[in-house]
Amino acid sequence: MIKFDNTYIELPEQFYKSTKAEEFKSPYLIEVNKDFADRGLGLDFNSLSDEDLALLFSGQDVPEGAAQIALAYAGHQFGHYSPQLGDGRALLLGEILSPEGKRLDIQLKGSGQTPFSRRGDGRSSLGPVIREYIVSEAMYHLGVPTTRALAAVGTGEMVYRERPLPGGIFTRVASSHIRIGSFEYFAASGDITAVKALADYAIHRHYPEIEGEENVYLHFIESVANAQALLVAKWMSFGFIHGVMNTDNMSISGETLDYGPCAFMDNFSFDKVFSSIDTMGRYAYNNQISIAKWNLFRLAESLLPLIHTDLNKAMEVTEKSISGYVHIYEQKWLEQMKPKLGLMSDHENDKDLIQQWLQYLQNEDLDFTLSFRKLSGGIESFKPTTAFKEFYLPWQQRLDMQSATSIEVKSCMNRTNPIYIARNHQVERAIQAAYKGDFSVFKKMNRIFRNPYELQDNCEEYALAPMESERITATFCGT
Ligand code: AMP
Ligand code: MG
Repeated sequence: MIKFDNTYIELPEQFYKSTKAEEFKSPYLIEVNKDFADRGLGLDFNSLSDEDLALLFSGQDVPEGAAQIALAYAGHQFGHYSPQLGDGRALLLGEILSPEGKRLDIQLKGSGQTPFSRRGDGRSSLGPVIREYIVSEAMYHLGVPTTRALAAVGTGEMVYRERPLPGGIFTRVASSHIRIGSFEYFAASGDITAVKALADYAIHRHYPEIEGEENVYLHFIESVANAQALLVAKWMSFGFIHGVMNTDNMSISGETLDYGPCAFMDNFSFDKVFSSIDTMGRYAYNNQISIAKWNLFRLAESLLPLIHTDLNKAMEVTEKSISGYVHIYEQKWLEQMKPKLGLMSDHENDKDLIQQWLQYLQNEDLDFTLSFRKLSGGIESFKPTTAFKEFYLPWQQRLDMQSATSIEVKSCMNRTNPIYIARNHQVERAIQAAYKGDFSVFKKMNRIFRNPYELQDNCEEYALAPMESERITATFCGT
């Protein structure tokens, strides 16, 4: 059924702790991502009944060869260092090799306490399960690097938050669960041997092309910078706010990891914050690039002893390398934003033009996704105000400077500007229905977001911005 090929478990013992799922008497299947299982993972679940799948994805039936471990990590949370985090409500079932030979982690989230749970119950209510399933799959189909959803099950038991809620378990597939915080965990205790073992493992798993190079750990930092710069640029281009860019939520592979209080923006604002716990706006939309860089410096700090035995020297070369590298973040942002305005050649004013458009959206309180999409359909959708013309005329002049035809420009824009995004008020609707035992909204949304760029029949409401009464301005932490 699942053929595991586990490697993390071969790392030194302080990297993880053995654990297993709690006992759930009547777990039930909500959804299994058969298409992904089949094509992405080469797993055939067709011979399994829904009951079998529920037992599998709630950790009750454990396939032979499973690792069953919780990983150790630390992290900077909202700027403050927490030395002991780790998988407090997640269990790594094991690793598999995909049909393309890619190593992937299969992890259960919400299956009960682990040695890292501290005071937490290790469980999850259905809300975060539904949210992560919908949003991570929507991200994938938009073309954003992300962990994937393999299954959602209900535990048949209640979890106790502000009120009792039905419990659930989410099965996540990731290129790995190595985070910046995984390095900080060992670096903070001065365990350089462990930092090196983890770095070598991460390089071999994610960046094998740099293996054996001189200054390999410096190259590693640059590789992570590259991957995370692309990731954050993609988030920005879809108006996505991660919400909790703590170093323990930033994957070394450059995938979106941990969907907590995240959101796709409706009406645009540079300073938009969704997370109810982010009272200082640290992880606001427009801070995401600089926060990604801040996080990268935390990774670099953890690796300093591997870069040079003389720490001052190590600092010097690392700072030089990274400072020469941070422009990558702006460059990737430009590469993602330009096609959304149909800019298919290079011009020195492109950055300003994009900023002017965004400023216009903010000033007029317009919907991010709809405005980009409408722009390719003509100007009728926009009020002919001075503010609009101040963007529109220079934009037209800029388009005239490139050789692309208007049809090419339009198709470039429609390829990069989705119609359907997983809007928060719709996700919330799916969650509320799920709490009542109705998973049809959840399933319909998953279907729609598989084709975000194409107009689909009978789903007009999913393309609309929320009405004032439906608008969600804050989301609460995943637990
Ligand atoms: P997150 O907010 O998902 O990034 O989690 C931050 C840390 O809190 C991680 O170490 C989690 O494992 C831990 N955590 C979150 N929720 C729970 C829970 N219900 N039980 C135990 N640990 C938790
Ligand atoms: Mg986390």
